Amino acid sequence: MAQWETVIGLEIHTQLSTQSKIFSGASTAYGAEPNTQACAVDLGLPGVLPVLNEDAVHKAVIFGMAIEAHIAPYSVFARKNYFYPDLPKGYQISQMDLPIVGIGYLDIEVEGEIKRVGITRAHLEEDAGKSLHESFHGLSGIDLNRAGTPLLEIVSEPDLRSAKEAVAYMRTLHELVRYLGICDGNMQEGSFRCDANVSVRPKGQQEFGTRAEIKNINSFKFVEKAINHEIERQIALIENGGTVVQETRLYDSVKDETRSMRSKEEANDYRYFPDPDLLPVHISEEFKAKIKAELPELPQAKKQRFKTDYTLDDENASILTSSIALANYFEAVVKLSRCEAKLCANWITGDLSAALNKANLDINDSPVSVERLAGLLARLADNTISGKIAKQVFEELWQGIATADEIIEAKGLKQITDTGAIEAIIDGIIAANEKQVEQYRSGNEKVFAFFVGQVMKAMQGKANPAEVNKILKAKLS
Ligand code: ADP
Ligand code: MG
Repeated sequence: MAQWETVIGLEIHTQLSTQSKIFSGASTAYGAEPNTQACAVDLGLPGVLPVLNEDAVHKAVIFGMAIEAHIAPYSVFARKNYFYPDLPKGYQISQMDLPIVGIGYLDIEVEGEIKRVGITRAHLEEDAGKSLHESFHGLSGIDLNRAGTPLLEIVSEPDLRSAKEAVAYMRTLHELVRYLGICDGNMQEGSFRCDANVSVRPKGQQEFGTRAEIKNINSFKFVEKAINHEIERQIALIENGGTVVQETRLYDSVKDETRSMRSKEEANDYRYFPDPDLLPVHISEEFKAKIKAELPELPQAKKQRFKTDYTLDDENASILTSSIALANYFEAVVKLSRCEAKLCANWITGDLSAALNKANLDINDSPVSVERLAGLLARLADNTISGKIAKQVFEELWQGIATADEIIEAKGLKQITDTGAIEAIIDGIIAANEKQVEQYRSGNEKVFAFFVGQVMKAMQGKANPAEVNKILKAKLS
């Protein structure tokens, strides 16, 4: 049996987070009543003219700069003609021969290895409306609110070799566009969706196999599943003597399978031609220089810096740089608390992240502010409270009412470091547990934990653990 190799190229539609549409002044806000955000331009009424939204161009160039792509000094909008009810003009305005962003690349990390994935191009286009098939009793409803929403379609080279690599690429790109502030990344609302082109070939063969394109997948999980399914389908087909035909397929997440939508023979002839209503877009060197100067620190650079400057391990550095908001939160806590970065990182990726996840909250909506977490960690670092008590204080902090110092004060949680007080308790416990003392002295070291437990219980967890260990060791030996 032949060994198969998979080849994948992704086309990702990124919704640019502009206030208004790409060629009209209508709002792009999500979730409005159907057809309340579609103006005459979006409806394609006769006599209207599109006006290009500068912010969409700006955001496309930001992206191009971030992937070190060639930015076209001159790019052109074209009409892509096809008929579909949710496309009232009868054509979509897109870019064909001269896209705004040319060849660039994205580095992805798969199982600890860095792989460079080529990006062929990224072009600006308008989104279509939506057909609604539910609740219209055999009819279809059309909602044109989404018509004219700006999209940047990012096309990769066929450089990906597995579903895992495809997902890593998609995640890295998703993180990047959010860092750049050009897309909100909301996949449920369709702000970031993917068409996956998949083919297989016998290992060692130079030539690519025939590909199928799976349309409109809007989650990382589904991308992985859909691609793996498609790989299996193609291999089984070929091994049974069949041939893969070039076609568009749909992924059905309920049945977990892909099925044919249309073959190449039925494919549309889009009859692309330059849109006579729109001028070519000129990008000057000054414009590019200005955007380059404004680019934020990119995810991979930030992760590297976190590893070197804060000596974080790879996992913490990855988690903390997964969004700018989380990274900023971390850096602010380190600065304010003056604690070791590792302690801050562990609390943020541990207790805080767990609590946020549980409450389904974003770091921006954390009930524990930077100041309050820093206040707690400072008390932990200067030994005012123990690690165990810190967890208790954190739970109180989560209520969002008081600072760590106020909680520690009000609840009397201050750690007892007064050796006299600790000694007195220990003496009492030793006197009351002769049997255990005997066991310990005859070599059963495990009993030591019993004594620590007893002391902590007697002192309500507030005794300084290091102090307790030291005194117990001395008195028991
Ligand atoms: P189209 O114009 O039909 O959309 P493109 O040549 O622009 O086709 O390619 C679209 C996507 O398909 C790109 O991401 C590209 O990398 C990918 N691709 C092209 N050929 C193959 C192949 N044989 N197997 C897998 N992916 C492919
Ligand atoms: Mg395509």
